Amino acid sequence: MMDMKGKTVVVSGSTRGIGRAIAERFCELGANVVISGTTDQVHTLGETLRGAGYIVTSVQADMTKPDDAQRLVNAAVEAYGTVDVLVNNAGITRDRLLIRMEEADWDAVLDTNLKGTFLLTKAAAKVMMKKRTGSIVNITSVVGIMGNAGQANYAASKAGIIGFTKSIARELASRGITCNAIAPGFIETQMTGDLPEAVKETYLKSIPAGRYGTPSEVADLTVFLASGQAAYITGQVVQLDGGLHM
Ligand code: NDP
Repeated sequence: MMDMKGKTVVVSGSTRGIGRAIAERFCELGANVVISGTTDQVHTLGETLRGAGYIVTSVQADMTKPDDAQRLVNAAVEAYGTVDVLVNNAGITRDRLLIRMEEADWDAVLDTNLKGTFLLTKAAAKVMMKKRTGSIVNITSVVGIMGNAGQANYAASKAGIIGFTKSIARELASRGITCNAIAPGFIETQMTGDLPEAVKETYLKSIPAGRYGTPSEVADLTVFLASGQAAYITGQVVQLDGGLHM
């Protein structure tokens, strides 16, 4: 088990699914964890985690809003003095075929997934650059690499995150900051649970591993990329997809 004692970790969109699994894993490893989500449910989760003995601060924050992104980083600095690890996880889907896709579907997905990643990274990078160390892990998707019918907005946002990750890795490497992306395939969460059974069956057939991934597996990789053991890995996109795309 890696030791994250004393490290301050900010995870966007951590009220359920992958983000929650990542936040809980860092909690288990002794980190100071700042969780976030758009509703006040985040505070209920914060109480639960603190009740279990973990060091947690909860912040209701919408990553599409610049002030909220800054407030999330400020909360980490006020509570724990710094940000060591940033995980840009908050993400949504608004799936429709191109012909039916409304401008609002496009804007909502690009604003949350891509602009939100930019806003929060900018706020956290200012803190990391001053102390010349830090790790940024962006949750993209295998769909951002291979595309997917009905997800043009989502795929564009996730492909954008990949270009963003590589650019930030180049900008911040000399300051001791790494920036990597994780591209999960099909992970069992509410986001994928909402898909029709027929679609899920089709996906399953295309996964060589013969099963979906778990949020816990994404959490394991996030911890590794945020650890000192991955200090020389930056600008990479690590696929976690059971062989779905290779
Ligand atoms: P869920 O829908 O289960 O969880 C999404 C999380 O993001 C929630 O905590 C939600 O909190 C939060 N969130 C949504 N919008 C915002 C916002 N504007 N500001 C802040 N937080 C927000 O999704 P998953 O756990 O499945 O996905 C997590 C990430 O992993 C996403 O980026 C997704 O694209 C990516 N991914 C998921 C895959 C999968 O198969 N599940 C595959 C590949 C990538 P709240 O509702 O409280 O706002």
